[in-house]
Amino acid sequence: MLGTLSELCLHAQPNATHHLLVHLFQLKLLCRSYTQNVDDLDAKAGLPQMDDNGRWAHVTLHGSLKSLYNRTLMCDICSKTCMLTLDHITMFKDGMYPECTRCIEEGETRIISHSKL
Ligand SMILES: [Zn+2]
Repeated sequence: MLGTLSELCLHAQPNATHHLLVHLFQLKLLCRSYTQNVDDLDAKAGLPQMDDNGRWAHVTLHGSLKSLYNRTLMCDICSKTCMLTLDHITMFKDGMYPECTRCIEEGETRIISHSKL
């Protein structure tokens, strides 16, 4: 579900309300906005996260699905981390989980060491 939702948000376009928020911000009539949405359409419309003075202009209370990208993904078995990519999201969408390179390498090492016994 997360993969599908991420992909849908990636291709969704801002609507008139998103553009209105940007317009109000540019006219300095909007000091700060808060959203519970995770679709990142406000930013896609051009609403900046910070104002010219470095203060929060747009606060995403629950983050955004876009923030999933370039985050770390941790292996449930060995805790190795890697960067979450669009390929990972595609795998999640297909109901698969990425393989951990460390676990694969350690598994191969165990197989090799057992074969030498
Ligand atoms: Zn692992």
